[in-house]
Amino acid sequence: MPRHGLSKSRIIAWKQCPKRLWLQIHRHDLLEVSDGVEHGFQIGYEVGDVAQGLYPNGILIKDDDDLSTALTSTKLAMATYPNRPIFEATFQHDGVLVRADLLLPTETGYRMAEVKSSASVKPYHIDDCAVQAWVIKQNNIALTSIELAHIDTSFVYQGDGNYHGIFRHEKLDDVIYPLLKMVPDWIHEARRTLSGGEPSIEPGAQCDDPFECPFKAYCSRDIEVQIQPEYSLDVLYRMHTKSKDALRAKGFKDACLVPSEFLNETQQWIQRVSQTGVAELSPDAGISLAGFSYPRYYLDFETINLAVPRWVHTRPYATQVPFQWSCHIEESRRQLQHQMFLDVSGNDPRRLCAEKMLEVLGTDGPVFVYFQAFEKGRIAELAALYPDLAPALHAINLRIVDLLPIARANYYHPEMKGSWSIKAVLPTVATDLRYDLLAVGDGGDAQAAYREILHPNTPDARKQELTEGLREYCKLDTLAMVRLAWFFQGIPVNEGHE
Ligand code: SF4
Repeated sequence: MPRHGLSKSRIIAWKQCPKRLWLQIHRHDLLEVSDGVEHGFQIGYEVGDVAQGLYPNGILIKDDDDLSTALTSTKLAMATYPNRPIFEATFQHDGVLVRADLLLPTETGYRMAEVKSSASVKPYHIDDCAVQAWVIKQNNIALTSIELAHIDTSFVYQGDGNYHGIFRHEKLDDVIYPLLKMVPDWIHEARRTLSGGEPSIEPGAQCDDPFECPFKAYCSRDIEVQIQPEYSLDVLYRMHTKSKDALRAKGFKDACLVPSEFLNETQQWIQRVSQTGVAELSPDAGISLAGFSYPRYYLDFETINLAVPRWVHTRPYATQVPFQWSCHIEESRRQLQHQMFLDVSGNDPRRLCAEKMLEVLGTDGPVFVYFQAFEKGRIAELAALYPDLAPALHAINLRIVDLLPIARANYYHPEMKGSWSIKAVLPTVATDLRYDLLAVGDGGDAQAAYREILHPNTPDARKQELTEGLREYCKLDTLAMVRLAWFFQGIPVNEGHE
């Protein structure tokens, strides 16, 4: 059989799904990388840069698409500078190529450390390190330990450019060594897959585990229309996966056909609305809003939780830093004005964010949000950070009114498909407001846009485009709440001032 060149990532792709590797090599044209996966790559690059920055005397083996130069440079660096760390050391054995993130010299060899942007060791990291270690050991390099360096979320950045302590190095020798003897079999089987025809594998749990597969669109092209009913069991709100599996095992795939004894009250409501196709709105929604005074405020935050913290006293992934808020203010019934805060300077945005918000929200009037745990949590964090602002911030939290439970208790439309997220609800009450037409269309996009704006290599024109995208997106989030509140109260929209 032909001897296909392999790499660590190709072997890991094969372990996820043999068909994935086959498509990657033979039908690369079908590959569709989602924005989420692309953002994940960017975070990985940032984390990799920080890891290298911790070893100022390290030697980077450049790739530049020239494999043989990278292989030669690695040998040369190890021979010439045996006491210096090496980044991206490149090795090959049996046609398998690997690049080691960190090789750290010890008295008797090297510590091999793979750097990951995750906050813990995942099962696929073990296979990853096993392939890496196998190839390196076949090159007769003594590995004194095999480690995975992942982000330590307890690390607190002091704002001084010092990232020592951001990685936790987990020694994996005990789990990797028993696996090394299996690596040749993986290589053989991966090559066997590549030499045959397209594997016949149906989409399943492997398509998202451990990574979102870039061939999902191709593999599921016929399935959705053929098999999926309009209302799958996934519309049954908060039904446990095990219960859905049990229903599927009994032959139920359509939420409309599930016997009521398997459904709770909310799920029966969803089923009824899905069957009739007629949305239901209880007058209680409007009644619950009628008593609130004006001005009414509609508030939403956008936040970022960076893998590599950049502001003082923030932790990787763990600190949600608000960098933007939008607020629609309904001065009196249907009389709207809009205020916004957005800091794209790269400075710590939190103090200004809190101060401007206090200015705009004043001291009276309900503050409507959608899912109060998020906004209240951020406001409480700002209060803890700035004791001088704490009384005013805590007072804001006392004024918060959550529209989500009101919606969940009183309104359901068949197109919501089991979700009360604002993005599911809005198209059913305000068809003129569209998230899907925006450059920044959801919270994930907003985080990615902000991260890109802060990146020093982002051109100004692109920064402006992304900043405008953030403005439109956050504004729509609060306008969506306004429109939902009006819808609940029966307030006509087309006479409003937006
Ligand atoms: S989408 Fe699923 S079935 Fe298709 S190649 Fe990827 S993992 Fe395999």
